[in-house]
Amino acid sequence: MDFDSHVIAVSTAAAGLVNALSPGQERGRRYEAPDEAHQREIIADVLFSEAAGRPTVDAADLAAFAGLAATLRLVFEQVEAGDLSEAAGVVNRLMRETGARPQLDSHRPGEWSMHFHGSDDSLVVGWAAGCATGLALAIGSDFAGRVGVCVAKRCDRVYVDTSRNHAKRFCSTACQSRTKAAAFRARRR
Ligand SMILES: [Zn+2]
Repeated sequence: MDFDSHVIAVSTAAAGLVNALSPGQERGRRYEAPDEAHQREIIADVLFSEAAGRPTVDAADLAAFAGLAATLRLVFEQVEAGDLSEAAGVVNRLMRETGARPQLDSHRPGEWSMHFHGSDDSLVVGWAAGCATGLALAIGSDFAGRVGVCVAKRCDRVYVDTSRNHAKRFCSTACQSRTKAAAFRARRR
């Protein structure tokens, strides 16, 4: 795994947490955060990695994950608004609070790769540190333009653009088609 792909992986996990846990609007419909049992499943899906597998999310962790998702949402919104200094402030605070630090881990004999850990290895602190550091590396590089909030009407889902031409502005092809269709109808009127 190269460094960029790790930045994309943790930033994508950050977007996944935000979209799963923050109420708002999704693809033209109201989005309510799911019930607790469902939240635990979704978080485990979002945090799945081939190297570490699928984590077990305890009910006791849910409040902390919801708080983390709300903080991470701010970062996506601030980057979308072009306010990188606000975004940097939030990310710096999160890295400080979680004691974020790099560490070389080996998941296969003889292969080492850089990961981000927190001050302890609990699921929430570890992922908060990882998401914060991933977004920090994105904001501090050409990747900043790849982090955003869907521009479609009645949608506030966030995304990390992993496309080759870095031209993504929507959370999904559904929102892109919806917006195109609305523009087409507006032109016909
Ligand atoms: Zn959308």
